[in-house]
Amino acid sequence: MILQPRTDHRLWPFILCLVLLWALTAQAREAPPVRVGNAVPAVEIAPRAEYLLDYSDHLRYRDIAEGRLPFQRHEKYSFQFSFKRATLWFKCRIAPADSGDDEPLASRRSFLVFDNAALGAITLYVPVIKDGRPDFIEMDGGWQQGKKSREFPFLYPTFVLPENLDASRPVVVRVATPYALQFRATLYTIDAFRKTSFVLFLIVGFFAGILVAMILYNLALYLFIRDRQYLYYITYIGFLLLWQCVLVGLFRYIWPPLGEFLMSGIALFAALMMIFAVSFGIVFLNTPKTAPRHDKLLKGLAVFMGSIILMVLLRQLWLSNLLSYLSGQVVTVVLFTAALSSLRSGFRPALFYLIAFGVFLLAAFVFFFKFYGLIPNNTFTMHIVIFGSAAEAILLSFALGYRIRIMQEEEEQLRERERDLEAISVTDELTGLFNRRFLNPALVKKTAAARRSGTRLSLLMLDVDHFKDFNDTYGHPEGDKVLAALGRLLVQTLREEDIACRYGGEEFVVILHNTDIRAALEVAERIRAGFEKISFQPGLSREIHATISIGAAELLTDENPEGLISRADQAMYQAKQTGRNRICRA
Ligand code: GH3
Ligand code: MG
Ligand code: MG
Repeated sequence: MILQPRTDHRLWPFILCLVLLWALTAQAREAPPVRVGNAVPAVEIAPRAEYLLDYSDHLRYRDIAEGRLPFQRHEKYSFQFSFKRATLWFKCRIAPADSGDDEPLASRRSFLVFDNAALGAITLYVPVIKDGRPDFIEMDGGWQQGKKSREFPFLYPTFVLPENLDASRPVVVRVATPYALQFRATLYTIDAFRKTSFVLFLIVGFFAGILVAMILYNLALYLFIRDRQYLYYITYIGFLLLWQCVLVGLFRYIWPPLGEFLMSGIALFAALMMIFAVSFGIVFLNTPKTAPRHDKLLKGLAVFMGSIILMVLLRQLWLSNLLSYLSGQVVTVVLFTAALSSLRSGFRPALFYLIAFGVFLLAAFVFFFKFYGLIPNNTFTMHIVIFGSAAEAILLSFALGYRIRIMQEEEEQLRERERDLEAISVTDELTGLFNRRFLNPALVKKTAAARRSGTRLSLLMLDVDHFKDFNDTYGHPEGDKVLAALGRLLVQTLREEDIACRYGGEEFVVILHNTDIRAALEVAERIRAGFEKISFQPGLSREIHATISIGAAELLTDENPEGLISRADQAMYQAKQTGRNRICRA
């Protein structure tokens, strides 16, 4: 038996309803045109647009208008170029702004803003109704368009869409640019645009103000301190400021030809900024000593960025910008880990550098998360690097001050240690007097000074009597006590400007400043008599006394230091010969 398809007549109303429902949803599936108004003052175009990347750059508006090309939907908030160079086309139906019935003066015009001043050439093909007939107007913008531009004057490429916009056909946009990688297109009511532009100028002013202040402040510090680290810092912040101001379209706004010139070399400023960021990092962290492996890497990166500069000069804008974008991420990571490694090696100022850099890194993370679509793209995240950089500039300036202080402290400690070492090297341990190493140069200086000023200078040569016997009888340690006592006596008896040295084992030399032989003999007598009175108690035996013999000599005209010492020595020998515990003059 063959089954005959049969339709129950009672089903017809249902089929009719289904067809109607399908027709209705089909209408709904085609999204309504984008429209801003009092209720919705700003709308992102990207999620509502369809886009196409033209890698060969052959397509013209005519091809697009035919409507046969495979445009794709775009769910993200930003339009994005691939890493391969391409021209981006997108289209979206836009209705005139909803002016609201109760506000007759409100404009039906809306503002289309592309939030990246680096976009080279933007062309809008805007469908309009003119004299009741469909027509379209072409509007050009972007820094490469020069005089042709039909932009509204603003930092970013901005277009005022006409009132007679035809919402039944899409606005088609062509974006061709030598290097911009990501941008938003936002439709604003006139009021919303006013607010947005105000906020943007505020952000740019805040950023530029802080950076200029930091540059001037650190320049002043440099003039006082003359530390080359300040120069690296100033140059780094200077290029950062220049780079960001070019990027945000400030120069384009002030004077388009300058903006165009600077914009075409944007990767140059980025590369220079990074080169000086790296140089500053190297000198600040002292990486050759505190992080040697990172040091090599950083220097390699600096050279690589030098090659980016070369690429810009050879007009390889797409590649140079892409490389500067990528190397920016690498430099950030390497500088951060270099600071970590420097801190681990015990370099304290690295902590402040890390804090300053950490703040910037946080901002950079937010920016890259935004770039890869992980967090929303809004005015704050779009300019997060600006805020991060401003905070970093301030904190780095603090870090620099802190580092200079620490370095000064360390230098002071080093100098103190050196002074201590020097003092130790010319001091005799047992008696606390100067040693023989000190005597010779000191005597040269003293004799020269005496000759220059025409003052007298005398020298005493002292030797403990029968000291060998003392040692033999009571032991070496007891003998040491005698020598130490003589040292103390000399310090007590002499004036500040006199110099007492331990010349040899139990021989001492005293240089008497501004003293003739008569006064010298008096001093010698005071020493001799003083020493004689000191009593020693070697072991538990009775009190004993030690004596010294002294030779005294006054510096003769044209006599050299050796001659003076030799004559005093002879006089001392004479004192020994004539009975000891006495003074003889040369
Ligand atoms: P004179 O009266 O002729 O100078 O007799 P003297 O025994 O002092 O003669 P001499 O210069 O030959 O002896 C020096 C002695 O000094 C020899 C040594 O034992 C002793 N002496 C040298 N240096 C030291 C020292 O650092 N500590 C002690 N305890 N003794 C020393
Ligand atoms: Mg002797
Ligand atoms: Mg002796």
